[in-house]
Amino acid sequence: MKIKSIEIGKVSIPLKKPFKTALRTVHSAEDIIVKVIADSGEVGFGNAPPTAVITGDSQDSIIAAIRDTLASKIVGMEVDNLEGIMAALDSGMLHNCSAKAALDIAVYDLFGKRYGLPLYKLFGGYCRSMETDLTISLNEPDEMMRDSLEAVAEGYTALKLKVGNDPALDIRRVQAIRDAVGPAVKIRLDANQGWNAKEAVRTIRRFEADGLDIELIEQPVKAHDFYGLKYVTDHVETDIMADESAFGPYEVFRLLSMRACDLVNIKLMKAGGLHNAVKIAHFAETVGVQCMMGCMLESKVGITAAASLAAGKRIVTRADLDAAVLLAEDPVVGGVSFDKNQLILSDAPGLGITEVLGWQKI
Ligand SMILES: [Mg+2]
Repeated sequence: MKIKSIEIGKVSIPLKKPFKTALRTVHSAEDIIVKVIADSGEVGFGNAPPTAVITGDSQDSIIAAIRDTLASKIVGMEVDNLEGIMAALDSGMLHNCSAKAALDIAVYDLFGKRYGLPLYKLFGGYCRSMETDLTISLNEPDEMMRDSLEAVAEGYTALKLKVGNDPALDIRRVQAIRDAVGPAVKIRLDANQGWNAKEAVRTIRRFEADGLDIELIEQPVKAHDFYGLKYVTDHVETDIMADESAFGPYEVFRLLSMRACDLVNIKLMKAGGLHNAVKIAHFAETVGVQCMMGCMLESKVGITAAASLAAGKRIVTRADLDAAVLLAEDPVVGGVSFDKNQLILSDAPGLGITEVLGWQKI
């Protein structure tokens, strides 16, 4: 089975409510969907949500990278030669991790379809379902508290709160939510680089002193500030998770070598796809650092790919794969299914995706 052609398209999916972090506010999920078509007619699906504030990749840059450079590197190659295809993508151009991820996901989907193998089994088959948390957007304490109560009523047992734009207000936000949801609900915080190192230590120590029982805190400091991240990790009791700092395999290797974080958040769009995400999981497992599988605001194509890796690997102990439930519509036919806070993988080959409705070819 050879790769015959590659088509690029996009979907725009409205959100149920605006998504707000310390970095941005978003009203709809824009996703680029690629189809990698084999000479047998089989189609592999991949995606790349442009998230310029995190990856540096815009819609236009992703389209141009695939169309003008990366597609020609892998068209004509045998789908069996996964290593060769991934090496061709990696060496085909520098950076452009989202464009590479889209093609990587589609090629893995095709590989799974060729051998009748669901991807979660290809990646290790450790389990078939997992629990996801739900992200609560950054808002005034009262609104975040209402959103949190709504999520708990819907069956979520872990909440990820966006904080990081004002330490004093962040403490009020978390206090209000902990008081409202009670002690049984897990609370994770994501500061999205919003604090500096000392501010982070002061704020986190307050959370600890107030008994707010925070499970973990994501990315307290700037992405490039590895020493700041290590400072925070070394000076608080709460587990610190690297997200924006833990970009690709090389950055994760460095973070782990420095012991700069307690946990790693793997995202396919940072890593450049499943192939590199597997490397990250294996690095982390080697030093006993648990991982969370995260996502961007994206369609169920990428969520299914991420969930497949998370289910396959034992070291991925947490999932923050709620993007698809933040969407008002689901144009993806097949793939992972949801039951309250559970993601359940299908036993269909590859990603189990057969079509993306409303896909507009570019
Ligand atoms: Mg994060």
